[in-house]
Amino acid sequence: MGAADEPRAVDNWIGGRPTPPEGGERLDDLAPATGEVLARIPRSGPADVEAAVEAARGALDGAWGRSSVEERARLLEAVADRLEARADELAALESTDTGKPLALAREVDIPRAVANFRFFAGAVRHHADAFHPMQRAINYTLRQPLGVVGLITPWNLPLYLLTWKTAPALAMGNAVVAKPSELTPLTAHALGEMLAELAPPGVFNLVHGLGPEAGQAILEHPGVSAISFTGGTATGARVAAAAAPRFKKLSLELGGKNPTLVFADCDVERALDGAVRAGFTNQGQVCLCGSRLLVEASIYDDFLAAFVERVRALRVGDPADPATRVGALISLAHRDKVEGYVRLAREEGGEVLCGGVRPELPAPFDRGAFFAPTVVAGLGQRCRTVQEEIFGPVVTVQPFADEAEGVALANDVRYGLAASVWTRDLDRAHRVSAALRTGMVWVNTWLLRDLRVPFGGMKDSGVGREGGRHSLEFFSEARNVCIAIDQRPERDPGRRV
Ligand code: NAD
Repeated sequence: MGAADEPRAVDNWIGGRPTPPEGGERLDDLAPATGEVLARIPRSGPADVEAAVEAARGALDGAWGRSSVEERARLLEAVADRLEARADELAALESTDTGKPLALAREVDIPRAVANFRFFAGAVRHHADAFHPMQRAINYTLRQPLGVVGLITPWNLPLYLLTWKTAPALAMGNAVVAKPSELTPLTAHALGEMLAELAPPGVFNLVHGLGPEAGQAILEHPGVSAISFTGGTATGARVAAAAAPRFKKLSLELGGKNPTLVFADCDVERALDGAVRAGFTNQGQVCLCGSRLLVEASIYDDFLAAFVERVRALRVGDPADPATRVGALISLAHRDKVEGYVRLAREEGGEVLCGGVRPELPAPFDRGAFFAPTVVAGLGQRCRTVQEEIFGPVVTVQPFADEAEGVALANDVRYGLAASVWTRDLDRAHRVSAALRTGMVWVNTWLLRDLRVPFGGMKDSGVGREGGRHSLEFFSEARNVCIAIDQRPERDPGRRV
């Protein structure tokens, strides 16, 4: 959208139709890199959620409720084809709406959205239910849809994460009520449009709005059987509390404060590349970002100097420029929060080795939410800057004396999402991977994903796993059916196994 265009009104998708909010109120959706108003989105509330749940229920009571695995797999493939055909447009929308580099949206966000649909089309076709024969009976497990499921997603990877939940939810025959982040509604709207064309009405409903309003209404609606939520840890606690009274099935993918552990025996060049990528991809706004760099003391000074040199070289600015590595943060408010943490780091005794400032950029980016990639050293383990998720381009660096201390520092936070370990010692790689209290460990790489493997965190990073069969199992109810073969009377004790 050019600066001269009027912001367009984006509606909810309910029952396959664009639907304005019942209350008529709207919110501005801003471009973080320029402050431009991109769209006016519905400020939805309980009445809109009610209509979405009703539409979803209607789909389940109709043909969708009787659909076969093959029909659903074909729908997923058709969505993947449609996403792929619109990839350039979607990458531009995602970059404008989030402030992330266009190249990143092109190379990662949109291809991954396509892959999510293709992957789950294949996964559901190959998903085998369990069969447990006994001498006197056979057991088999039916996997049935949960019904209406609520999907609530954050702003950092908007289409990537929404499709990561939508594809398995639909593969298992559920109907969806989704709420994307109010800060990044545009690619979700495009997905709603595609599903309105490709799927029966009501299979996928999209309700825009604020978390405590539209989001809360989804959590509390008695017709929503399960919630898959990705977002911050504090919000996750509210989601769990709201879902508890009705025992809704919950998947919570929450925050992280992930360590990058660099041992002296590593391949230093690769570890430097990995640590920079882990620290600053998507402006440090990926839950998996390695925001705590822990380096073995014997190589600490040299490694830190080389790391800072590489971080200084990261180009910040216009997200559409192919040379840009660091775009805008999601909002001015978030930029201020990140800046506040850097101020706090200084008060806590940290030394800011690079960044720590708003970069000087030409118009229109002088109004954008930019912050220079920042490295802070000299902080103790108890400092808030080391303990709390900043979710921005800020990496703290600490030395460790030996393996035991490295692992202890890595584990000494409330989060437990992911870690990366850099070492050439195979024994150490196995030992450290087993000792880290995180849901995922990468050795000599970072964020290398196979969509089949379990994804999720421990401790305050969440509950449950997504990916492959884990997603398919989350989005379905297991029912065991036991059929007797032995026809002796029930009262005969010999019948009992
Ligand atoms: P957030 O928790 O503020 O919001 C996430 C979503 O929840 C948004 O759609 C928001 O509108 C909604 N929401 C907010 N309050 C709500 C409420 N009371 N009831 C229902 N819904 C509510 O998170 P964010 O700022 O959008 O995203 C950043 C956070 O997400 C970071 O903490 C990051 O680590 C986390 N995250 C985690 C993963 C993961 O897989 N573990 C992936 C991406 C992001």
